[in-house]
Amino acid sequence: MLVHLTLNEEIQQYVMDVSLREDDIARELRMATVSQVFEHRMAVAPEQGQLLGFLVGLMSATTVLELGVFTGYSTLAMARALPPGGRVIACDYNEEWAAIGRPFWERAGVAERIQLELRPAIQTLDALLADGRAGTVDFAFIDADKENYPLYFERCLELLRPGGLMVIDNVLLTGNVARPGESDPEIDAMRALNSALRHDKRVELSMLPVFDGLTLAYKTGSRADGRDAR
Ligand code: CA
Repeated sequence: MLVHLTLNEEIQQYVMDVSLREDDIARELRMATVSQVFEHRMAVAPEQGQLLGFLVGLMSATTVLELGVFTGYSTLAMARALPPGGRVIACDYNEEWAAIGRPFWERAGVAERIQLELRPAIQTLDALLADGRAGTVDFAFIDADKENYPLYFERCLELLRPGGLMVIDNVLLTGNVARPGESDPEIDAMRALNSALRHDKRVELSMLPVFDGLTLAYKTGSRADGRDAR
């Protein structure tokens, strides 16, 4: 029989105890976020930051796109997984939140890998496309305003190289997408994206019921090395 484990506090704590590799810099950024920002629950969990860094490293990514920086915990995790000269194009509109992260990016020695774009993410994505950057991004993490997720998905897909990976956060919206009675612009947009992805041949797909729901989608098509990315 197939068993899906339901996480409880005990198991969650065990997983953290045996696998979390958060260092002082990352932990102090997390603590600074909790003490300075009312909306601190918007931050990614430390084990999610670790997963993002893991995936960026696994992909040997050099160009990363992040939509939704908040206080830069995920930005830090991904920038650290890049080689020197790598770039996180980090999109957010809130300068105050990003300013909390910057000293920690500097302490970790990765500040120069982070290109902060302080304006609505859609403007940055359109500017990159207008600049001829389609097909040049290795990894995209989408964790911004949920109503625009379908737009973000389309732009990011264009910017990704074949084989490039998109990681989309909060796709379950605390389970609301699965409850027929629930509806608001965020839930409706997320449902529309989730349903559309199922049949979208432009990506290979895996939806994971971890954290608040995490979708992994990589772009199909011919890669530069001639192998088919699928
Ligand atoms: Ca999130």
